[in-house]
Amino acid sequence: MGIDAKSSWVLSETQFDPLALGKCESIMCLGNGYMGLRSATEERYVGERRGLFVAGTFNSFDENEVCELPNAADLLAMEIALDGQLFSLMQGKIHEYSRSLDFSTGELKREIEWCSPAGERYRLVFLRVVSLENKHTVAQKVEITPLGGKSEIEIKSGLNGQITNSGSQHFSEGAKRFYDRRYMQLVQTTTQTGIDFVLTTDVQLSAEASTHIAMDRRKIFSVYKTSIPKGQTLIIEKITTIHTSRDKENEGLSTAEIQSLGLENLKTQAALGYDEIARRSAKAWRDIVWDNIPVTVESTNPQDQLALRFAQYHLQIMAPAHDNRMNIGAKAFSGEGYKGHTFWDTEVFALPYYIFTQPKTARSLEEYRFLSLPGAREKAVTNGYKGAQFPWESAWLTDGEVTPLLGAADIVTGLPIPILTGLIEIHITCDVCYGVWQYYTATGDEEFMQKYGYEIIFDAANFWASRLEPGDDGFLHINNVIGPDEYKDEIDDDAFTNYFAQWNLHLAMEYYDKLEGTSLFNELKKCIGMNYADWKEKAEKIYVPAPREDGVIPQNKTYLSLKDIDLTKYKNQAQVGSIYKDYNHEQINQIQVCKQADVLLLILLMEAAFTPEQKQANWDYYEPRTLHDSSLSLSTHSILANDMGDAALAYSLFERACNIDMGPNMHSSDDGIHAGSIGGIWQCAVLGFGGLRLIGDKIRLNPALPENWKRLGFYCYLKGQKLKIDLTPDTVRIENLTKTAPVALEIGGNMHVIPDMLEVKLERR
Ligand code: BGC
Ligand code: BGC
Repeated sequence: MGIDAKSSWVLSETQFDPLALGKCESIMCLGNGYMGLRSATEERYVGERRGLFVAGTFNSFDENEVCELPNAADLLAMEIALDGQLFSLMQGKIHEYSRSLDFSTGELKREIEWCSPAGERYRLVFLRVVSLENKHTVAQKVEITPLGGKSEIEIKSGLNGQITNSGSQHFSEGAKRFYDRRYMQLVQTTTQTGIDFVLTTDVQLSAEASTHIAMDRRKIFSVYKTSIPKGQTLIIEKITTIHTSRDKENEGLSTAEIQSLGLENLKTQAALGYDEIARRSAKAWRDIVWDNIPVTVESTNPQDQLALRFAQYHLQIMAPAHDNRMNIGAKAFSGEGYKGHTFWDTEVFALPYYIFTQPKTARSLEEYRFLSLPGAREKAVTNGYKGAQFPWESAWLTDGEVTPLLGAADIVTGLPIPILTGLIEIHITCDVCYGVWQYYTATGDEEFMQKYGYEIIFDAANFWASRLEPGDDGFLHINNVIGPDEYKDEIDDDAFTNYFAQWNLHLAMEYYDKLEGTSLFNELKKCIGMNYADWKEKAEKIYVPAPREDGVIPQNKTYLSLKDIDLTKYKNQAQVGSIYKDYNHEQINQIQVCKQADVLLLILLMEAAFTPEQKQANWDYYEPRTLHDSSLSLSTHSILANDMGDAALAYSLFERACNIDMGPNMHSSDDGIHAGSIGGIWQCAVLGFGGLRLIGDKIRLNPALPENWKRLGFYCYLKGQKLKIDLTPDTVRIENLTKTAPVALEIGGNMHVIPDMLEVKLERR
């Protein structure tokens, strides 16, 4: 199997590999922010992982399992029998095969020429879209052409609610019914949260067919029989709609009402037919993404443009922009991995994309954090603190912390490794504030701040103020945490956490000064309490690990005194996490090794706090010790390598970041794509090579393109103005398309105010 960059729009697979089904199911996943549909095939295979996830529909299987996004009924499957032979690529002979996802249209296509075990040849084409125009609709079209003689064809298809999340069945079986002996409907209800899912489907054949309707446990389906003369093509169209009681517009509706709504929408969509649904969806792709905010690159390597489109495609389908009660999962809606939970991945890795290209979506993602304040406050209280302590893993708004407690096997003890992240990976609270701050700095959206932002920042500061512990040295410490580098747990004075906690307190003080005396200020003071003097004292006394004389910042209290081992083997690994084959978690805790960017991420996010020499010293120290065992790591290192003038390394790290999902590792994406890392691909291009950054309250553009890029073009929103930015190795060209206000940008060390157009010559590096 190969994934071949045929053109810079199309991701394709050229060989069928039954041992690596998960790869394309995930990376070619379809969706629209409302739902995500893994690209499993119509015919079923051992090893497949079919998956349909609807944003925000969390359910908990029982009290021993944390909540997760339930895997809804399968709507894709079609059992196809051709002249009595079941169509399956596991038997007969494959003469031609390709599967591709065209990012320009969002359409998935399989083209196959297959010879059955009986020696008959057929051509089959499978097409599929999840509509970006009507978010409830999935459309499929199958074309079957017998290449030998006349052919008898039997199709069995419907809705199958026997699907589980790796064995956990999240639904009770609800109503099943046929309407007009044609439309099939299945209702399933989540067991704990009581969300109704209504799936309604219609299968139409282009030829006269006999139809037999049937039901089974958790299943409703029809069997269609027809015959096709030689050389003619049978076309099967299957259109399905999904509506749930969690959909905002369905609030207060009964199940029966949602059933009629599902049926009505299905009738409308089915009347349009596959081609029209696909055409409208493709138009939405052009309007929303490709004609509106494309990132274009002229590179000697066509894979670069493909990777950037791959990133924009997935960033579009992973964001539940329609509903601020929902957020992005670490694997988006493309698999069961991380249970659909939201992590810091949103703010630090994905959010910048939306802030700069789709600020409304960014706002909705941060409104989610505001709406989840009740859970954050409860978490703080449970742990004996004040204010808002955001959950490491977040799902349903009011749940608070949902991180599971046990993980993979410990090679020494033979027991599952306890997961401590939900208890002590507390930097998430600053990361959320960093997201709010980034959004505000780039957009200037004061209304958002008044309604949501200030309250988040203040109550997070209240948490930090209560979390600090006095030490014998007169400083305040934050003990017993996990920093971004999850290979070190239960540590004290984590640099990333402490610097950011101090930053959070300072930010709260700045906003306090700004708001003091306003009615909002008085209201917030009454509801959540803000103690400026306390924040100030604590911000002054918090221990922030200062750089050593050589500039290296101790990652935490003990890191620099841990054992240094030869990490070459793990740095060159083919599969992430290989160090766990030789050491258990406790042993890794005692080694100077980092799972992912940690101090270096701190330096990237807080650039103004460090000198260039300190940046270099930490790069030299930590890069060789970082294994990039989290997909969130490579983009940070690529951006920093570029800052430090190592364009070749920056480019190779960018390529590796692109390969996390698109590359040759056939199993890295089985559980779903890596949402944060995909945000990272975009970051490498726009924030890294393009050099667009928020530094303090300044916006800076310092491009430095890699050797093999002749041009990079992108669009970005700043303070409500849409800018078109074109970069070559030695020029910057900016056009303000909105033109209602000038935008101030620092370019190459000089401030520019751009009313409508600007061209600047750059010095080549
Ligand atoms: C991740 C943690 C996460 C845990 C449970 C681990 O693999 O590194 O961040 O909390 O899984 O989901
Ligand atoms: C990383 C975390 C991340 C999580 C979800 C873990 O492996 O260490 O930083 O939040 O995955 O992507």
